[in-house]
Amino acid sequence: EEPRARAGLTLEGTRGAEGRLVVDLRVVPMAEGETGERLALLVVDDVSEAAAARARALQAERLAAIGKMAAHITHEIRNPLSSIGLNVELLEETIAGPDDAEPAARARRTTEAQKLLSAIAREVGRLADVSEDYLRVARLPQPRLRPLDLCALVREVIEFARPELDRARVQVSLTLPDAATLVAADEGQVRQALVNLVRNAREAMEDGGELRVSLAADARAVTLAIEDEGPGIDEEVRQRIFDPFFTTKSTGTGLGLPITRQIVEAHGGTIACEAGAVKGTRFSLVFPRG
Ligand code: ADP
Ligand code: MG
Repeated sequence: EEPRARAGLTLEGTRGAEGRLVVDLRVVPMAEGETGERLALLVVDDVSEAAAARARALQAERLAAIGKMAAHITHEIRNPLSSIGLNVELLEETIAGPDDAEPAARARRTTEAQKLLSAIAREVGRLADVSEDYLRVARLPQPRLRPLDLCALVREVIEFARPELDRARVQVSLTLPDAATLVAADEGQVRQALVNLVRNAREAMEDGGELRVSLAADARAVTLAIEDEGPGIDEEVRQRIFDPFFTTKSTGTGLGLPITRQIVEAHGGTIACEAGAVKGTRFSLVFPRG
């Protein structure tokens, strides 16, 4: 009979001055011995070198990711900042001009100053959005799991988004179980994931449409589906939607979906994106129970 490898196990320990010792242990069952006793071979592999190389590669990858992130942040921050600077200069000039005795001229200057201020406020808002997203990626903590009623959370998030959805002429249809649907989850994080998906759905439906949110539960898992009637996603775009910084929107950060996936996976769940039943896009999140 062919010996089969079983029960692979990697042990780590310290090996004096040489650093970490990492060994692979495998138990290979052998044919029975002459007296019927069962024999097994214990194979010990020293894989310290490979493990160290892997750690170095991971480190290099992390550094590269940080460099990429820094470049993006710089780029995202520079434009709003220079526009704020310019508007502030114009505002200074507007305010420092000669005193207008004439009411009409004064009114014109006030209007001008208000325009400049609202342009500044817009750019500041943009900066706040961007930095909030970046911070979230940079330090998403381990989820703090508590019993959470997903049904109630879905209702809350939709109620909270209602004004924006109304403005975008997006109708919502909810298909939720009657009973509470409990999972062990970090409420703040799952809320964030939901908000990101609802926002994407709304942004996809430029001319309005229907947003369908449904929840289905069995003993082992809860499936949450969010479906929109937007234009859908091309195959080559779909490949990249979870990549950090990938966006097709002029003011997108490309961080909504990577954050969402990170959250779902930190909960032991999965997220998938597929074409909607009729048109549009459906995101399905599966959370394990118990
Ligand atoms: P952002 O929304 O800032 O662009 P996301 O990570 O949330 O970043 O989304 C990445 C990209 O995935 C979007 O730019 C868009 O191209 C695509 N996408 C996400 N959700 C949808 C959707 N519901 N319909 C169509 N495209 C979507
Ligand atoms: Mg988004």
